[in-house]
Amino acid sequence: MSTENAQPHAETKEFQAEVKKLLDIVIHSLYTEREIFLRELVSNAADALEKYRHQSLLGEESFDSHLPLEIGIEVDDDKKTVTITDTGIGMDRGELEANLGTIAHSGSKTFFTKLDDAAKKDVNLIGQFGVGFYAAFMVGDKVTVQSRSYRPEDTGHQWESDGAGSFTISACPGIRRGTKIIIQLKADAHEFANHTRIKSIIKRYSSFVSFPIKVAGEAVNTVQALWARSKGDIKDEEYTEFYKFVGNAVEEPLLHLHFSADAPLAIKALLFAPEASIEKLGFGRTEPGVSLYCRRVLIDQHSKTILPEWLRFLKGVIDSEDLPLNISRQALQDNALVAKINKVVTSRFLKHLSEVAKDEPETYEKFWGEFGFFLKEGVVSDFLHREALGKLLRFESSKSEPGKLISLAEYVARMGEGQKEIYYISGPSREAIEAGPYIEAFRKRDLEIIYTLDPIDDFVFSHLAIFDEKQLVSADRGDLKLPGDPAEEEKEEKAADDAEKAATAGLTAWMKEVLGDRVKEVMESKRLDDSPAIIVNPDGFLTSSMERLMRSSGQQGMQQFGAKNLEINGRHPLLKGLAELKEKDEPFARSVVEQIYDNAMIQAGLMVEPRSMVKRSYEILARLVQS
Ligand code: ADP
Ligand code: MG
Repeated sequence: MSTENAQPHAETKEFQAEVKKLLDIVIHSLYTEREIFLRELVSNAADALEKYRHQSLLGEESFDSHLPLEIGIEVDDDKKTVTITDTGIGMDRGELEANLGTIAHSGSKTFFTKLDDAAKKDVNLIGQFGVGFYAAFMVGDKVTVQSRSYRPEDTGHQWESDGAGSFTISACPGIRRGTKIIIQLKADAHEFANHTRIKSIIKRYSSFVSFPIKVAGEAVNTVQALWARSKGDIKDEEYTEFYKFVGNAVEEPLLHLHFSADAPLAIKALLFAPEASIEKLGFGRTEPGVSLYCRRVLIDQHSKTILPEWLRFLKGVIDSEDLPLNISRQALQDNALVAKINKVVTSRFLKHLSEVAKDEPETYEKFWGEFGFFLKEGVVSDFLHREALGKLLRFESSKSEPGKLISLAEYVARMGEGQKEIYYISGPSREAIEAGPYIEAFRKRDLEIIYTLDPIDDFVFSHLAIFDEKQLVSADRGDLKLPGDPAEEEKEEKAADDAEKAATAGLTAWMKEVLGDRVKEVMESKRLDDSPAIIVNPDGFLTSSMERLMRSSGQQGMQQFGAKNLEINGRHPLLKGLAELKEKDEPFARSVVEQIYDNAMIQAGLMVEPRSMVKRSYEILARLVQS
């Protein structure tokens, strides 16, 4: 449908059917941010320049071939206009009509599909949906497009519309190659007639467009899309400079990963771990720092979905041309594909970490010190990557030097013949653990035991559960069975004569009666040598360290979560003496039992009620000095 305009050479045409309705949708409901119009027009300009670059490589003759390939943006605060100019391929009359008069017609997509396979790899076009241009009507009540195609035989034309139902096309002689778009801003959009505002929008969305973008003559996109270049050509300084830009940082990154993948999706990623963790320093929760791009144009800044939450400390860029964008290019429509990208990039990053751990142990140690906590969070929260994360965990152990860390793999490699499980014990410090009763049995058998010094470690291990097909077992488990010399154990049991055994049995029953509900059972210990008593957890899942953490997060610090067992060492002089004392002075012997229990609880890292404990211990001391 077309109607002739009264003016010669000027023609007024109705938009194609349904277009008015569609236009209304694009203008009023497609985008959540009005500033997106600039991203769309700059992307179109970049596409036009890319097409021009391609055509000139083919050696085609072109008009104005001396012009530099660039994008210019000017605002006029008096007239309230924004003007975007490019020296790209331009459009002739027919192209103006077809490309700007038909919604959902993408000249760029058509251009791309006509390329041969080799050229497809080389030509990087952003447009695909054929609606971006109309975003101009979100902020403008009149949009004028002046364009001159690169073909020498063409002349310039002007397209103009108020975005309401029709557009006009007329001749526009004397213009240079490329396209100029003049937006007459709506009354409520005058904020965009401001260079500073325009610059900040360009920086946000279009920093990595491959052609210079000049706002009021000044180039705004000075940083290259480094991720799109091949690794071999990039210098360390360039990575650092890029990191400072995307990570908003001043120092160098601790490490980086630059990779690209073709299957299952085309992905290019450049990720950085900062020098230090801000979150660790207590500055609140770190917000995600990796942004999602599609063909160098920002889609989702600091995306919350493209990587798992526990990787929130990473900074950088993920770019995929296969992103399942919805037509607003602000959102992704296929969550399964997003999950796939997430998985591919995360796995790749974990693989990189294990390589760093192997090839640059010092760097990894530093990384672990800063970000180990996040990996532990990953083990607890991310089933998908739990196994890979398990390999990256580091701990002190009874056979590591103080302050030196080992991996679970190193532990497994050192395991002795009969050992089938990986043992660990938590404590506030190496010294505290080594002074306590829990590692006695390990020392005796020369078994290595991991020290879990971080309160969350026991949660991490209970989620990991298994490493390299070996169970992770806390040494405060009641049912702990250690490999050792079974013959020796039997010997020991035999050695204890029957009378002695019966005495201990009587003692444990009485102690249970004294302690009541505080313990599930009191029993003779097989694991103790030097210590008189030890608290163990009959419930294999809950370790004392986990209980400590649960208590500290609840209000009742004294609340007991799981019933404990008290194991006693019948051969210890204290217990031998206790049996005698019980006969002579039972009330006093009861106090001693309570004190033994409290001491064992303290060694388990569990809080006891201090007032009665201190009072009682003074009473016991008083008896001692009196006698
Ligand atoms: P898309 O970019 O997704 O193709 P748009 O609505 O943004 O859709 O643009 C429609 C078409 O108009 C483009 O495909 C392109 O052919 C043409 N076009 C838009 N802007 C320009 C420009 N600055 N120079 C040349 N062609 C342009
Ligand atoms: Mg476009």
